[in-house]
Amino acid sequence: MLDEIEALYDRLEKDELNAFITLRPREDVINEVKRVIEKGLKPKLITVKDNISTKGIRTTAGSLILKRYVPPFDATAVEKLKEAGYVIIGKTNMDEFGMGSTGENSAYGPTKNPINKSLVPGGSSSGAGAAAKAYSLPGIGSDTGGSIRAPAAWCSVFSVKPTYGSVSRYGLIPYADSLEQISPIAPTAKQVEEILSVITGKDPKDQTTVRAVEVKGCSSKGVENMRALVPENVLELIDKDVKVHFESALKKLENMGMKIEYSNVEELELALPSYYVIAMAEASSNLARYDGIRYGLSAEELPPITENFYDYIAEVRGKYFGWEVKRRIVVGSVLLSAGYSEELYLKALKVRRLLSTKLYKITSDKVIIMPTMPTKPPKLKGERKPKELFAMDVLTVSANLAGLPAGNAPIGEGIGLQVMANRWRDCDVLRVLGALDGSRLKG
Ligand code: GLN
Repeated sequence: MLDEIEALYDRLEKDELNAFITLRPREDVINEVKRVIEKGLKPKLITVKDNISTKGIRTTAGSLILKRYVPPFDATAVEKLKEAGYVIIGKTNMDEFGMGSTGENSAYGPTKNPINKSLVPGGSSSGAGAAAKAYSLPGIGSDTGGSIRAPAAWCSVFSVKPTYGSVSRYGLIPYADSLEQISPIAPTAKQVEEILSVITGKDPKDQTTVRAVEVKGCSSKGVENMRALVPENVLELIDKDVKVHFESALKKLENMGMKIEYSNVEELELALPSYYVIAMAEASSNLARYDGIRYGLSAEELPPITENFYDYIAEVRGKYFGWEVKRRIVVGSVLLSAGYSEELYLKALKVRRLLSTKLYKITSDKVIIMPTMPTKPPKLKGERKPKELFAMDVLTVSANLAGLPAGNAPIGEGIGLQVMANRWRDCDVLRVLGALDGSRLKG
């Protein structure tokens, strides 16, 4: 094991993918691995997205405003992983505060896709996806509107966004609280299952947690007699390449005993605008806590205190937040202001209810299957128009609005199949992922 870690570090120190914002020193990791062995546990390496708090390890959320922030505590998910023998190897790169779908919005530079370095890896958990593919490292990221499923699809690995309320958000730097969950990503479905079974559970420190999901053994159960619905109308939104692989994956599932039906689910088309209104509204209130004074910038980095405190804050935020973040704070604040709130925010909440009711009904006796991303990974560009960015999330945001578990299985290079199940039935998601995991069949 120790030799393997040395060899891995030799590769990681030359990482050209920019998968990590902070890589822990080799000696620290090796010493921790030894301590885990002494305790009689089997050590396993894991990556942690840089918006999940890690005691004593810098946590930036991909933003300059947190470039010196070292949390004095561990997120509950991290604490549980450490207890189970996982050793953190580093903090993975991400779109600033989770705002992005490609991994290009990080203040620490874009992450590259290990399949082809000229392509984006998907975001916002971009480094987690790249590290899972290139270095076979499992990890935890977060998913607010697709952030663990997009990189899994575009980097060809597995991931699950668990049922809302099944994993503690304590220690997750918040973007949009009502939508997001800490989520596992890994080279195999089995590893995703293992991580989820460790991090799930009620947490007194997060009042939105309800209970644990039962997922042990699910990835090897197979899909015989499971029912699935494919929403035909969304297939019109996807590229031909994706469609070809999607259809052949459906045939495979059918051959393994799954029963697949097709029909239109119009409500899915309402998800994207509703998601962006709610996400930006919540973001604008969450990001109000950053002013440069708390969370670690040093005195030399801050402008001189001016007479008007608001000017001072505006200067700090202007300098240390990226463009996408600023845009969302501004739009989110407008959305919540008098007049607009009734017109837009409340309407978005109503659409969320409508969509959720429909999805609960469908998933009461079957899973929903669709592609994860409408296209293959696009070329790295650096900056993108918001509309282009938002359109990439068209198939992933519904699960967050309804709080349903949803996962990705790779079905081609840079192509993923998404499966969504009823609340608390994360096991069904893992059954489909496991069935599509070639590594399970081989070994
Ligand atoms: N792309 C979506 C957004 O920017 C989702 C990101 C996420 O899940 N954190 O909001």
